[in-house]
Amino acid sequence: MRSIDSVETVGVVGAGTMGSGIAQVSATEGYDVVVRDVEEAFLEDGRETAAASLDRFVDRGDLTREEADDVLDRIHWTTALDRLADADLVVEAIVEDMDVKREVFGDLDVVTDDDVVLATNTSTLSITSIAAATDRPELVVGIHFMNPVPVMDGVEVVVGERTDEASVALAHAFSEALGKETWEADDRPGFVSNRILMPWINEGVRAYDEGVATKEDIDRGMKLGTNVPMGPLELADHIGLDVCLNATETLHAELGDRYTPAYLLRRKVEAGDLGKKTGRGFYEYD
Ligand code: NAD
Repeated sequence: MRSIDSVETVGVVGAGTMGSGIAQVSATEGYDVVVRDVEEAFLEDGRETAAASLDRFVDRGDLTREEADDVLDRIHWTTALDRLADADLVVEAIVEDMDVKREVFGDLDVVTDDDVVLATNTSTLSITSIAAATDRPELVVGIHFMNPVPVMDGVEVVVGERTDEASVALAHAFSEALGKETWEADDRPGFVSNRILMPWINEGVRAYDEGVATKEDIDRGMKLGTNVPMGPLELADHIGLDVCLNATETLHAELGDRYTPAYLLRRKVEAGDLGKKTGRGFYEYD
């Protein structure tokens, strides 16, 4: 099962922002996809997210209407855990909570064939600890997609303490089959991407809170000054302030005071101003 050629059906756990995107790109590349979430309403939201994204590909002329419809037909949305028994590879994209992820990996270990690689899309949590909830830690690997999955070209492959070479190779090969380019990181807090990105965002929030510049000028300064497409506050709104706070708290717990979450980041999350997804973060959205 661990050769890319034997992967026909991809299991995705979680139909949220990332899970719906992973399902969409997998189906776009011809895989059959089974998406599992805990409630029908979340599956419906995931389906709508994928359909709206596919519509944009059709509008741009990248897919025909018929191709987009075929992509959606290849994705099967279910609340039944045992439907994942068909999967040749599973990617988990549920809430960023170690206890919940470990429980799900324990279930996946039972329901899938013994030789199926189980990947997690975690942003910051330990692959090694998630893998220890299974009897196949050598088959557990991080496949960390970037948001939005259908648009972003990069995937971070994360190697746990017990992950074996064949699983790492499959993680690269699968990501490449989806048209992505990969880089590899050891299983240290935040890996490469969030270890460096989150303190950048956090310092942007602190600079704003301390009145160093307006939010617009902080974002303009970083865009014009360092040639990135989004400044730290725009990017935080895009990712979700709750996601940024959660990731920063994990880094803080693992790596110490240099990762202390900015006061304003915590206060905005407490207020429910989570960024684009709630219509208000550092900026306001329709
Ligand atoms: P989300 O909140 O949008 O979606 C999570 C989904 O998981 C929800 O639909 C929820 O109902 C479902 N879920 C929860 N428990 C479940 C279970 N036991 N079984 C099946 N489904 C379950 O979250 P997201 O933003 O898609 O993030 C998912 C994962 O991807 C997290 O680990 C996150 O750290 C990571 N990630 C997020 C981003 C991002 O920018 N949002 C980027 C990279 C990685």
